[in-house]
Order: sequence, then structure tokens, then C-alpha cells
Amino acid sequence: MSTITLQGILYDQKSSFQQGPAKAPPLIREALYSDSANMFTEDLKDVSNMHIDDRGDFVVGDYFEIESITTANLKDEGKLLTLGGDHSITFPIIKAHHEKYPILDILHIDAHGDLYDEFEGDKYSHACPFARIMENGFAKNLIQVGIRTLTTHQREQAEKFNVEVHQMKQLDLSKIRAFENPLYISLDMDAFDPAFAPGVSHYEPGGLSSRQVIDLIQNLDANIVGADIVEYNPDKDVHNMTAYLAAKMMKEILAKMVN
Ligand code: MN
Ligand code: MN
Repeated sequence: MSTITLQGILYDQKSSFQQGPAKAPPLIREALYSDSANMFTEDLKDVSNMHIDDRGDFVVGDYFEIESITTANLKDEGKLLTLGGDHSITFPIIKAHHEKYPILDILHIDAHGDLYDEFEGDKYSHACPFARIMENGFAKNLIQVGIRTLTTHQREQAEKFNVEVHQMKQLDLSKIRAFENPLYISLDMDAFDPAFAPGVSHYEPGGLSSRQVIDLIQNLDANIVGADIVEYNPDKDVHNMTAYLAAKMMKEILAKMVN
């Protein structure tokens, strides 16, 4: 069984609208280990028996430190799961993965394409990470699911980078094919409909249900080598329900990573 390394990135300085996700990682862990639920996945894998090497939470001063923190936590034999943080952290995380996985596919689950060339003057905004990833050639295939906020600019960017966009409009999850290359999953909590995940900075109605995302993860045919769960904003949450959803997704993703 492969070892999973866990890191928390306490960083939300590239959020364009509201801060809060920097507080998320310890709260997702707390929900995961809470007595309110057991540690089994729905496929009866016991997450408490997994080899999880939890490196703890990292306070990030400068954005570019995220790459070196991640490189240090990417052990040779281990796979890395990151708790964020705003979505800007995914670019330096993927940059660090590129050394180890020169050919990588990314499944990006989000209300937003995060493909802006720049946002409010910042090329590293949480609205831009997938533009940076694609222009650097850090992903072979980028598959986006849950998108419901395209602009003409972002649609052009998606075409430019040959992104496979599965919008909420006319979504058919059965069209997501098997992944032949190592796969990284980036889960933005605002992909869920705000009714399921009120603890996010950007409310975008018309989103995925909890069940749809769980099914999507469980049905993946892929070698998942890394993942992140980002954009949980505790300041917006109601009764910690988004923390519990993030923890459940963490469990289901962990179980798929050790396959
Ligand atoms: Mn995002
Ligand atoms: Mn988003």
C-alpha cells in the first residue's frame, strides 16, 4: 500500500474576493477525525489503517514558497494530498509535481475555469492557476468539471490550451473517459452547489451535488498520484457542513489514491 503524505497550506492571499481559506486545513482534519462519523469509505476502505504521513500545516509568507514546501513533502515513494488554501496554490504545487511526473493529467472540479491570463493585475490570482499550468506545459490533459461561469476570455483560453470543459449545462459525467496518464485531482469546494457547500467565498448556484462528486471520484479509472482540496472558507460555513463535506471527499480521494 502506498504512503500518502498530507500537507496543509495556510494561504489565501491570492483570493480576489474574500479571505478565509487559510484557516481551512485544521478544520478539515478536525471534521475527518470527529466522532460524528467513522473512518470507512463507502467502499469499506478504512482510512484509519492507511499510512498517512501528516506533515502538518505550513504558514506561507511568500507565494513562491509553496513550491519548495511541496517539493520537500513529495517523497520519492509517496503520493501527496494537499489541503488549502485558496486555489492559487495549485500552480506551485503542480510545478513541484512536474519534476516527478513530467506527464500528468489534471481533473479540475470547480464552478470556475480559473483560466484568466491575469486577474486584477495578478497573474498568480486564484482565478489564474490553470492558465499558468497549461502555458508551462505542466499538464498533458486538463479536464474540467462543474464549470458554470465561463466568460468569452476564459472560453478562448480553454480553446487555446485545449481544455476539455464539462460545463454544468448539459453535464453528462459518463462522458469522462479513463485517464491513461498519472492523474492529479484539484477539487475547489465551490464546484458543489452552495446548497451543499455554503463554506466558500464565491456562491455560484446551479452546481454539483455531493452525490455527483462522490460518484465521479469513485468511478474514476486512473492512477491518482496527487490531489488538493481548496477554497473551503470557514468564515462562510454553516454548522461546519462544508468542513464535513471536504472531509468526506478527502476520505474518498485518499481511498482512490492508495488503489
Ligand atoms: Mn478554483
Ligand atoms: Mn471556484
